[in-house]
Amino acid sequence: MVDKKVVIVGGGVAGAILAKNLQHQANVTLIDPKEYFEIPWANLRALVEPSVAERIVINHREYFTKGDLVTSSAVNISETEVFTEDGTQIAYDYLVIATGHKEPIPKTRTERIDQYKEGNEKIKSASSVLIVGGGPTGVELAAEIAVDFPDKKVTIVHKGSRLLEYIGPKASSKTLKWLKSKKVDVKLEQSVELDSHRDGNKTYLTSLGETIEADAHFLSIGKPLGSAWLRETFLKDDLDAGGRVKVDEYLRVKGRDNIFAIGDITDVQEIKQGVYAQAHALLVAKNLKLLTEGGGKEQKLGTYKAQAPISIVSLGRKIGVAQLPFITILGRFPGIIKSGDLFVGKTRKGLGLEANVKKA
Ligand SMILES: Cc1cc2nc3c(=O)[nH]c(=O)nc-3n(C[C@H](O)[C@H](O)[C@H](O)COP(=O)(O)OP(=O)(O)OC[C@H]3O[C@@H](n4cnc5c(N)ncnc54)[C@H](O)[C@@H]3O)c2cc1C
Repeated sequence: MVDKKVVIVGGGVAGAILAKNLQHQANVTLIDPKEYFEIPWANLRALVEPSVAERIVINHREYFTKGDLVTSSAVNISETEVFTEDGTQIAYDYLVIATGHKEPIPKTRTERIDQYKEGNEKIKSASSVLIVGGGPTGVELAAEIAVDFPDKKVTIVHKGSRLLEYIGPKASSKTLKWLKSKKVDVKLEQSVELDSHRDGNKTYLTSLGETIEADAHFLSIGKPLGSAWLRETFLKDDLDAGGRVKVDEYLRVKGRDNIFAIGDITDVQEIKQGVYAQAHALLVAKNLKLLTEGGGKEQKLGTYKAQAPISIVSLGRKIGVAQLPFITILGRFPGIIKSGDLFVGKTRKGLGLEANVKKA
């Protein structure tokens, strides 16, 4: 029934795919604080090659043509409505929480693309770059700079004992070796005292008292989960200790018939990956089609099974490090899968768009 109201909170990887797939089946409202969806796994390439931003920053209206769009953050919910920061109240029959991670990024596509251009200027004008954080974002950024600008001095400072702690130690050691071969200096088990750095001062102090000279720095320390807003709502007891939403096998919030959660925000026991967030969205799209059609189809709801820990981290344009179920590989093979186009064409096609942006 097209008149059933489905509200999706969060227009990231999971929310965008769900909105795209459900828009003709129900009366869908998408709530997101920005006017666009962004392909997160290519955003470090956009820093070294800003034209990539034109392909990865996609106005929600390009793929979500039918439903309602509210450009604001959800701040509260009742059992029938969502309340947003700008004072809008939106009624729902079904609610989907897809607020993965939250970060302060601009509201419009133009402003976001300009940010990438500024980031690119910052890299180009620096002889030395300090990257704070050695998770996937820090590692991918260091690799992009080391490959595209081999003359620049790149340093990663990471407070953990190994890089890429979200996957296995073999991936960490292979990546460390590769980065060293590209002359990237990696300092583990220390953090950067950012207060020690002032504008115009190029010296950074670490927690172990080392000094690092760098013309520019980038913070790659992970984004906070987007669940803080739920802590004051009637769903506060449906969060686990880490702030993730507890879901059942249908990806419904446990004990709730009409509220789903998808993507990184859920407590599904798997590593948090966009490819899984997309799978959650496709399953919930099917389940919501059954539920909104009515007629006792609840029995047919599909279930989700947590996925094995598979991940590929790109190391510049040709190489990647892949953790697969029984093997970890660093080299051209994972690079062919991910590092060339970074799944940008594939992700755009999944949203029903051309792989490339048409020139105006
Ligand atoms: C550098 C990097 C490389 C990666 N590489 C890969 C890869 O190769 N393959 C892969 O599968 N995954 C990869 N990932 C992981 C992937 O990006 C995430 O798993 C994915 O983005 C999770 O999707 P999501 O929809 O759950 O959350 P997000 O994509 O974080 O989206 C959350 C959305 O919710 C919005 N939001 C937050 N709070 C609110 C609120 N209160 N109200 C309304 N909206 C709100 C946000 O603005 C955002 O739009 C990578 C991530 C990074 C950072």
